[in-house]
Amino acid sequence: MKIVVIGSGFGGIASAIRMRAKGHDVTLIEKLDQVGGRAQQFKRDDYLHDAGPTVITAPNLFYELFELFNERLEDHLEFKPLDPWYRFYFVNGFEFDYVPDREKMLSQIESINLNDVDGYKKMLKRAQEIFEIGYLKLADQPFHKLSTMIRYAPDILRLKGYQSVYQFVSSYLKDENLRQVFSIQPLLVGGNPFQTSSIYALIHALEQKWGIYFAMGGMAKVVDELKNLMLRQGVKIKTNHEVEKFETSMNSISNIIIKNKPSIKPDIVIANADPITVNNNFLDKQKISLQNRFLKKYAKHSMGLFVLFFGTKAKYNKVAHHTIWMGPRYRELLNDIFNKKILAEDFSIYLHRPTATDETFAPKGADSFYALVPVPNLQASIPWEEIKMDYAKKIVKALSKTIMPNLEDVIDDLFVMTPENFKDSYMTPHGSGFSIAPILTQSAWFRTHNKDDYYKNLFYVGAGTHPGAGVPGVLNSAKVVERIIHG
Ligand SMILES: Cc1cc2nc3c(=O)[nH]c(=O)nc-3n(C[C@H](O)[C@H](O)[C@H](O)COP(=O)(O)OP(=O)(O)OC[C@H]3O[C@@H](n4cnc5c(N)ncnc54)[C@H](O)[C@@H]3O)c2cc1C
Repeated sequence: MKIVVIGSGFGGIASAIRMRAKGHDVTLIEKLDQVGGRAQQFKRDDYLHDAGPTVITAPNLFYELFELFNERLEDHLEFKPLDPWYRFYFVNGFEFDYVPDREKMLSQIESINLNDVDGYKKMLKRAQEIFEIGYLKLADQPFHKLSTMIRYAPDILRLKGYQSVYQFVSSYLKDENLRQVFSIQPLLVGGNPFQTSSIYALIHALEQKWGIYFAMGGMAKVVDELKNLMLRQGVKIKTNHEVEKFETSMNSISNIIIKNKPSIKPDIVIANADPITVNNNFLDKQKISLQNRFLKKYAKHSMGLFVLFFGTKAKYNKVAHHTIWMGPRYRELLNDIFNKKILAEDFSIYLHRPTATDETFAPKGADSFYALVPVPNLQASIPWEEIKMDYAKKIVKALSKTIMPNLEDVIDDLFVMTPENFKDSYMTPHGSGFSIAPILTQSAWFRTHNKDDYYKNLFYVGAGTHPGAGVPGVLNSAKVVERIIHG
């Protein structure tokens, strides 16, 4: 069968590979000039910058893609285990290393609050139970039938999926700083820890089970090697191809219209472009499924991201590979970002320093960084073009005053991405970082179904569909679609 995959994020790439392994004639279409979606890489003067994902969890999902063709990932890529996984720096003076060594972590917790040691152990046990069901059982299973949702609803209730991640963590830990350390995970997939279902506490158990890795050469190297795998195996890749519309016949997609390029007639379409964009832009408004109509109108979207890319002409050896820099407010700041949708004076930062692990990202004696700041998405009217450089300066100043002394003197080649760039580059509604938010009422059956309810040859993979955002999520969505198509 002729399968056309639209969009080359990790969800699209994994689908193209899986469908090719099943023997189909596969074409991958991408609007941008390189494949990888959010995992593109910027090469600027002397510095390399991964633009999106940096943290690899659940590495087995990448190994599987090579194994489908009896190849070995290790022959092409090196995944380096990190230690610490994350270093937390709070402006209130609190510091915490989230490390693979359990005893080392427990002794840090003990020095903060003795009672929280026991609390942490109980919390981890519960997170592992959630992981067994929420990840191992459900993440790669089709959820487009209401009967599946009904079958698993008692499990979700038993695991108190109606609680937020913050409520979950707070029921085990007393120290407020530790509560923040162990509840930030939803932000990694675009959710507010105070509103995201405690099912997402499974991320903590997932990190504990398989660890956290960095791909040498960065995510772009992973994308390159997956691209080479696709080319070796005969997937046709067409970059600079922007899909504009679908022509339909009865309840099938019969033709894909591509801007300034010949159209393509598919047997099956797998859309990796955001489902809301697909429904809004490619399809006749009268013929969209009820579910997708509802989401188009009422969905809650993930936050926007302001990302600062820069080099430094000096090395900051004390800065870990991944740092979470926590500003003065937590709940209130998240409320400003997700609910009030205002750009606050304060912020928190995820700081990426790939040169801590891979020297090739910067010249000798220099470092490469990106600083990612969660901000409101474009549902807020923030004049990003006007304010972006001033906002960047504030972030640089805050880093310079704390963990990166004299940053202003050594900073080199700074550029930024705002939510507007996310919207333009990836065609993401409201320029959000992670598609629709991972709240309970937008998860599993409630998220855009992996198989369209109306068009029988249209399927969805990627962050906007089940199971959701994050690299493991979108790689699993490709497994779900493979299961639906191939039974
Ligand atoms: C800054 C940032 C940091 C992150 N860090 C991490 C991390 O460390 N670890 C982790 O696990 N996750 C992380 N994530 C989340 C993760 O990167 C994403 O959830 C995931 O990569 C999204 O993949 P996707 O398959 O949904 O496709 P996307 O990456 O969203 O790609 C979709 C593709 O579709 C293309 N497209 C859209 N419309 C059209 C069209 N009309 N025609 C043709 N092509 C089209 C787009 O150009 C794009 O290439 C991060 C995300 C961001 C933004």
